[in-house]
Amino acid sequence: MPPNITGQKALAEYQEIIDEIERETLRLQKQIGGFPCPESCYDCCYNTATMRISEIEAQDLKIGLQKLPKEIQSHILEKASKSITKLNTVGFTEKNFPETSGTNIIEALKGTSEGECPMLVGGVCSVYKHRPIICRVWGYPITNNNQIGCCWKTFIGKRKEYKPIQYDQYWEKCRDLSEENESNPRGVPNCYLVKRLLS
Ligand code: SF4
Ligand code: SF4
Repeated sequence: MPPNITGQKALAEYQEIIDEIERETLRLQKQIGGFPCPESCYDCCYNTATMRISEIEAQDLKIGLQKLPKEIQSHILEKASKSITKLNTVGFTEKNFPETSGTNIIEALKGTSEGECPMLVGGVCSVYKHRPIICRVWGYPITNNNQIGCCWKTFIGKRKEYKPIQYDQYWEKCRDLSEENESNPRGVPNCYLVKRLLS
């Protein structure tokens, strides 16, 4: 089903956020003379099966998932289902996750194969053009809860030398764009969301 008019307007505004993030990452790439990440690194996709994703990001993600071949979709759905099964065994359920602490739910899968992002397929992001905003900015200095956040492998010792990407603001805008549809204001954990989008 195509998104309704309201959904399309929100998606157009979301695209503006993405474009701005793109300009910001290019700015930093120019300043440091290239990409900040080591080649073939995708460590940040390992413990993201429970990262929170807003409804507007989900709408874009859905477009990316629907473009994938059916067998890849099935593979992603299977990975998401395995993460959910493991979460269930330690007491997290689809009903109680809105009240759970983000840190606790991340810790529940940390370091396990079920903690890997379901959309990481063969070491590649299968929804790259439609990935959530945190995936677009991680690796660059960003504002997060009034602090400068950054992957520990990049901008080592130099984070404060560069103007950070205003991640907080972009996340807030995503939440505003999601408001009408969102019953979970902090976003939905990745694996639950992916299962919903592919089921
Ligand atoms: S959506 Fe893509 S970039 Fe983001 S965590 Fe998953 S695989 Fe990695
Ligand atoms: S952000 Fe960090 S963990 Fe992710 S790809 Fe870049 S260097 Fe690797």
